Amino acid sequence: MELSRRIRTLNEGGSDGWELFYRARALKAAGQPVTELTVGEHDVPTHPEILAAMQSAAAAGHTGYAMVPGVDALRDAVAERVAARTGVPTGRENVLITPGGQAGLFAAHMALCDPGDRALYLDPYYATYPGTIRAAGAEAVRVETRAEDGFQPQAEAVAEKAAGARSILVNTPNNPTGAVYRRETLEGLARVAEAHDLWVVSDEVYDTQVWEGAHVSPCALPGMAARTLVVGSMSKSHAMTGSRLGWIVGPEEAVARLIDLATVTTYGVPGYIQDAGIFALSRPDLEEAVAAPFRRRRALARDILARQQAVGLVPAEGAMYVMLDIRRTGLSGIAFADGLLDAHRIAVMPGESFGRAAAGHVRVAMTVPDDAFTEALETICAFAAARAAEAV
Ligand code: PMP
Repeated sequence: MELSRRIRTLNEGGSDGWELFYRARALKAAGQPVTELTVGEHDVPTHPEILAAMQSAAAAGHTGYAMVPGVDALRDAVAERVAARTGVPTGRENVLITPGGQAGLFAAHMALCDPGDRALYLDPYYATYPGTIRAAGAEAVRVETRAEDGFQPQAEAVAEKAAGARSILVNTPNNPTGAVYRRETLEGLARVAEAHDLWVVSDEVYDTQVWEGAHVSPCALPGMAARTLVVGSMSKSHAMTGSRLGWIVGPEEAVARLIDLATVTTYGVPGYIQDAGIFALSRPDLEEAVAAPFRRRRALARDILARQQAVGLVPAEGAMYVMLDIRRTGLSGIAFADGLLDAHRIAVMPGESFGRAAAGHVRVAMTVPDDAFTEALETICAFAAARAAEAV
C-alpha cells in the first residue's frame, strides 16, 4: 500500500554525514570507549529540584488532560519572560505551550504555509529544518550563509530567494555554527521580511546560552512582532530535553489558530511537566547552572585553539557547540570525522550533515566533562596538524 507523498519525501535531499553518528553509537554499544561530541544532550540530568516539582505535581493529581493552550500560570510565566527579554508587550493570549521546540517549529510552519508555498531556511541548519517544512506541505528553500561572514546571514542572499515566499526560519544563537546574529544582521533580515511580506519563525531554543554579544529576538525590532512566531524550549536552557516542554509566542490571532491545531494534534502537554516548568522558570539560578559548563568549555576551546594553526574556530558566540574549520587539512568534514573516530575514538559531527555551507567543518558538542573535553580538543588539533602536514 502506498503512503503519502508528503511522508515519503520528508527526508528528500537529506544531509550526509549522519553515518558517523550511528557508527559511533555502534562502537559504544560494542563496548569501545568513544568520546561522544555529537548530539546536543547535556552531560547532567534535569535538576533534582525540578524533578521534585514534577513528582509532587503528579502526586497531587495533575495527571489528567491539561488545558490545550497550556496552563495559565505557565503561559503567564512565558509571557513575562518574553516581554522582559524583548520589550514586546506579551500576555497569556500570545503564548501556546508545546511539547518541545520541535513541535513548535512544525506547528509554526503549518500555521503559516499552504501546500506548495515556499518557506526559506538558512544553511547550515539544524538537521530537522527541511523535513519540518516539508512535513507542513511547503517547499523548503535553502539560503546559504558563508563561513567568511561568520555565518551571519546576508540580507541580499535572502532577498534573492524571497519573492513569493511565505516565511523564513532563523535560529540565533545558532546550531550548528555557534553564531549569535548581530542586531544589524537581524535588521537586514527584517527589511527583507517587510519588503516581501514574509513571516519570521524565530528558533530561540539556545537563548540562555550566549557567550559573546547579546541575544536579540527578531520580534524585538520595530514592527516585527506582528510577523514573527518565536519558538522557545526548556530542553537546552534547563537540561529538560526528555520532558518535551516548549512554546510558541506570537500575535494573538496566530496563537488562537495554533491552539486549534494543537487540539487536533498534540492535545496539550502533561500538567505535571508544565508544573515543573513553572517551578523551573521561577528559579533563574537553575538555568545559569546549566549554561555555566558550556561557558567554561567554550573558554577552554578558545585557549586550546589559540595555541595552534591547523584548526580554525568559527565564532562560538553561543549555544553548546563549537564549529571547527578543518579546511587546512584538505579533508572534507566527513573524511575528517571518520578518520578521527578510527584513530582516536572521538566522535564529532561532520559539517556536511548540517548542509553544504558547513562543508570542511566539524561540529563539536561541548557535552563531556572539562578534562575529557580538553583532552579531546587537543587530540583533534594534533590530528588536524598531522593531516595538514600531509596535505602540503
Ligand atoms: N532547534 C534547534 C536549533 C535545536 O538544536 C533543537 C534540539 N537539538 C531544537 C530546535 C528542538 O529542541 P526541543 O524539541 O527539544 O525543544
